[in-house]
Amino acid sequence: MKSITMILVFTVIAFAGVFSFNWGSIDVDFAALEVQAKGAVVKTIEAEDGVFPESAEVIESYYVVPEGCIGCQICIGQCPVEAITMDDNNIAVIDPEICINCGICASGCPTSTIELLDADDCALYGIDAEGNSELLLEELEED
Ligand code: SF4
Ligand code: SF4
Repeated sequence: MKSITMILVFTVIAFAGVFSFNWGSIDVDFAALEVQAKGAVVKTIEAEDGVFPESAEVIESYYVVPEGCIGCQICIGQCPVEAITMDDNNIAVIDPEICINCGICASGCPTSTIELLDADDCALYGIDAEGNSELLLEELEED
C-alpha cells in the first residue's frame, strides 16, 4: 500500500510546473517584491545588492486566497506532506516547495478558498519598509 502511495505522489510531482515571469527593471525603492495571486503571496523576491531581478520563476501549486480563510485548520490535518501552516493572522499558508498538488486540501476546505495557481491571476507588488504593498503590475507577462 505504501509503495502505491509513493508512486501516486511521484506521479503528481512530475506534473507540477513552473511559471516564468518577466517584468523588466523595477526602478523604485522597495524593500521587497511579491508575486501575488488573489491576495495570496506566491513568491517573495529580495533585492541583491539593492537591485531586483527582472524576472522570477513561480512554482505551480495550490495556494490559499486569504480573504476566504476562516482559520479552521481542516486543511492542515488533511495535507499528506505537511505543506500547510497558519500565519500570525490565523490564515492558512501553503509552502509551494513542499506541496505536491494533490488537491486534497482544496476539496476539503469549507469555504473553497484553496485554488490551483493560475498564471493569469498573478500580479507584481512592491512592499515598502513598513510592509505596505503597492500594485506595480496587474498582469504579468509569462515567458
Ligand atoms: S480549510 Fe480552508 S478555511 Fe480552513 S484553514 Fe484551511 S484554507 Fe482556511
Ligand atoms: S494540494 Fe493541499 S493537501 Fe495536497 S500537498 Fe498541496 S497543500 Fe497539501
